Amino acid sequence: MVHKDADHVELVLPDGRIIDYVIQITPKARSLRLKLSARDGLVVVAPPHLDRQKLMALVAEKADWIGERISGFDAVRHLIPTEPPARPQAFDLPALAESWRVEYKLTRGCTVGARIEQPGRIVVAGAVGDVEACHSALRRWLARHATISLSPWLENLAEPVGLHYTDLAVKNQRTRWGSCSTTGRISLNCKLLFLPRDLVRYVIWHELCHLLEPNHSERFWMHLRHFEPAADSLHGRMRDAWKAVPSWAQRGKGLLL
Ligand SMILES: [Zn+2]
Repeated sequence: MVHKDADHVELVLPDGRIIDYVIQITPKARSLRLKLSARDGLVVVAPPHLDRQKLMALVAEKADWIGERISGFDAVRHLIPTEPPARPQAFDLPALAESWRVEYKLTRGCTVGARIEQPGRIVVAGAVGDVEACHSALRRWLARHATISLSPWLENLAEPVGLHYTDLAVKNQRTRWGSCSTTGRISLNCKLLFLPRDLVRYVIWHELCHLLEPNHSERFWMHLRHFEPAADSLHGRMRDAWKAVPSWAQRGKGLLL
């Protein structure tokens, strides 16, 4: 048995195979529980007070049983439609010309938080064995980061041309890049940061033009082409833009619409 990283541990099976498992510290767990599934492999749910060495020894005692079950899964694994969820080690934000590396630190506590440790490096800390909780923490970070960067971007486009919006909300909408309410409130999707700059600018102009025309009439397109001469080709490129979004950034099942 080799200790590989903070929360992923290796286990040697009786037949010599080595498998990876994840330790999930759960305050409510009273004892050690092994969850085995074809999709996620072995997940060990443990109470916070259990000593790590003891935990690994207890799991090793079950190696026979784990080995048998895992062999059974090999036969059906090809039926699983999606990749097992993984925690991103790095990602790019083309809209801001930024590259980020992500580090995970397992700490006591049942929550997970993400913060910038130094330029280009994010640390996700807490119960990081929970992949979905890590994704969720990164999505909250993305929303905060997008609010900081999209607010001045919107203002810098709107102000010189005298367009007045009442408020900006940066959210993680599932299906919309942006919207503009009749009261002049603009919403922008934090996932815009995964798009190239010209597409982000297009979306911002698009929503700003809704301050002038609430619909997609010919008059709306006239305004939009005035501010953004390449509006038609940019609009066409938006169709595939969702492909640039990594699945962890999408709320829900990670399914892109
Ligand atoms: Zn529109």
